[in-house]
Order: sequence, then structure tokens, then C-alpha cells
Amino acid sequence: MNGTIRQFGEKVVDGGILDRTEAEKLSALSKDHLQDVLYFANRIREKFFGNEIRVCSIVAGRLGGCDQDCAFCAQSVRHNTRIGKSVTVLTDDEILNAAKEAKEKGVPHFGIVYSGRAITEKELARIEKLIAKIKSEYGMGVCASLGIISADQARRLAKAGAERYNHNLETSERYFSKIVTTHNYSERVATITTALDAGLKVCGGGIFGIGESEADRLDMAFQLRELGVDMVPMNFLHPIEGTPLGHSKELEPMEILRIIAMYRFILPKANLKVAGGRVLNLRDLQSWIFTAGATSILTGNYLTTAGRSAEEDMQMLADLGLKIKRD
Ligand code: SF4
Repeated sequence: MNGTIRQFGEKVVDGGILDRTEAEKLSALSKDHLQDVLYFANRIREKFFGNEIRVCSIVAGRLGGCDQDCAFCAQSVRHNTRIGKSVTVLTDDEILNAAKEAKEKGVPHFGIVYSGRAITEKELARIEKLIAKIKSEYGMGVCASLGIISADQARRLAKAGAERYNHNLETSERYFSKIVTTHNYSERVATITTALDAGLKVCGGGIFGIGESEADRLDMAFQLRELGVDMVPMNFLHPIEGTPLGHSKELEPMEILRIIAMYRFILPKANLKVAGGRVLNLRDLQSWIFTAGATSILTGNYLTTAGRSAEEDMQMLADLGLKIKRD
């Protein structure tokens, strides 16, 4: 066992936090001593989360036709993808059925996701009703991901019963403009603080494998820690033909595990939710994410790529002796 990794690991297990210099040292060591890092990432997870895992599913209430230009996303009208060029809006029944189906498969949390920069008043009024209905009829925790929201919209979502608001930073402030040019990083940070101020919990993370550096990854982790985000979705690029990143090389499975473990060290008490790219990029190593420190998964399909069935994920958790956290 590498002595520095042991020292940092014990510090975090004992309730301490790593500063930026320590995180950089750990990052440098992690490439040659990955098993040591994974060992402590797992211990940190067990210390703060026991054997409980949070599971959620999402539905694309509005898919495609987005006027923004996020380079990794198939839903932008600015990219040459089938999804980007058309807009699909699900009916109330389709959204409710998706929630019901998730509930029947044992998934306790459900998110409604809309493509686009923001939502209109009419869309918000509809989503308020859907949130209230899913909560009362199925007893699920409901989350929303609706782009940039105002303080009033955030308060209305909280009042309707939304538990969480999803809004990702995507990457570091420094790298953000290489990935998105139609809105800026400060708008993303502001939306997260707006949601928190309204009493919503925030699900905010980003995407890896988009050409970012290790320093960008660390920047985002520290920014999320500063914001107090307690649920961090970690997406791993699945390159989609027709997007600017369509020919990027996927991250190797062991590199993905290393990134998750680094985040576990830096954000010991935040849930780390492995989301897009899990199935396609990790392949047989999917169940290793928990050893790397993940405490949450998005099950079922992702927004524009296929995921894995809830049944298979539930079996994986049972086989690992992990329990689903229901509240
Ligand atoms: S990530 Fe969201 S805002 Fe960006 S292009 Fe895709 S749907 Fe639009």
C-alpha cells in the first residue's frame, strides 16, 4: 500500500477532507496505484453510506430540438443527429406510465427531464401537476431537470413536491466554453444556487471523456463541494455520430473507475451517481463502480442512449449485498 494514499485515505475515513494540493498528489499517484485508491474509496463509501445505494430512473418529457450547443449532446438542433432535428413531447399519460413502470420495478426516485435552455410557463404548470401526481399516486421521490430556472420557478417546483433539481456543471469553468457556447458556466452555477435557495436538493455533476484534463475534473469536484451539492451524477461520454464529439475515444473502464474513486476522496459525503455511459463504457466492470465509491445509479435507459433494465441492475445490487435506499 502506498503510504501517501493510506495517509489521505485514513484522513478522509476519519472525517477529514482533502485540500487541492492533496487531491493533486492523490491524482498523480492514482495512475500507478489504482488498487490502493480503490481500496480506500470503498472504505470511504462504506463509512459514510453503509451498504445502501440510491437508484433512480428518468424520462425525457421533451426530447430533442434543443437550441443549445452542448458538444456531447445528440439533442441539439445545431448538430447533425436525428434526435436533434425533431422534438418529441410525451403526453401526461406517457410520463405517468413511465413513473408507474419504474415504481413497479422497485425504483424509488423518478426524474422528468426536458431538453432546452429553459421551460415556458405553460410547461411549468403542466410539470407541477405531474410532480404532484407522481408523488401522491406512486409515492416516489420526484426530480426535475428543466434547464435554467428562475427563483420563482424553483420555489414553485419545491411547492409542487419536487425533491431535487438536476442541473449539471458538465465540466470545469475553464473548459466549459470549449463544450458549450450558447450559455455560460456562471448561469449553471446560478441555477444550482437558485434551486438550493428554494429548498430543493440538487443533483449536479458533469460529463467525463470530453477532452477535459485532470485539472478540469478536480476543479469541478471542488466547485461541487463548495456549492454543497449532495448528489453528483457522473456521465461518461458515449460518442454520438453527428455531434462535435462524435469521434472522441471512449474512456477506458479502469480510467472511469479511477475518476469515480478520485471524486469519492474529494466528496466523501456526496452521493456519486454513475449515469450515462455506464453500460457502454464500463462493460463487464459495471459492478466495480461501488468499489470505486459510487453510491447511486441511474437505471433503465438514458436520455438518448440505451441503458440496462432495472431488473438487471436490481440483481447486480442483490448479488453484491447492497440494499436500495428508499427515502
Ligand atoms: S445538454 Fe441539455 S441544453 Fe445542452 S444541448 Fe443537450 S438538451 Fe440542450
